[in-house]
Amino acid sequence: MIHMKCPACGSQSFYTKDPEDQYNIFEFDLKDGEIISVTEEAESNQFDIGEETETFCKRCAWHDKFKTLKEGK
Ligand SMILES: [Zn+2]
Repeated sequence: MIHMKCPACGSQSFYTKDPEDQYNIFEFDLKDGEIISVTEEAESNQFDIGEETETFCKRCAWHDKFKTLKEGK
């Protein structure tokens, strides 16, 4: 089982920003390494979260590339 969480505060709630529209954010939780969308609009499913996607913690000021979470650093 993969545990992905914020390296700073341990939260598993994050969001990313649309690279083409910084005001358009996609919120999600990480459960057992899976991305669980908490944004209900169907549009947000268009977000493609990749290794290089800048990911922000919802609880603290941490942000880094998505792959950093996978590495557990
Ligand atoms: Zn955090």
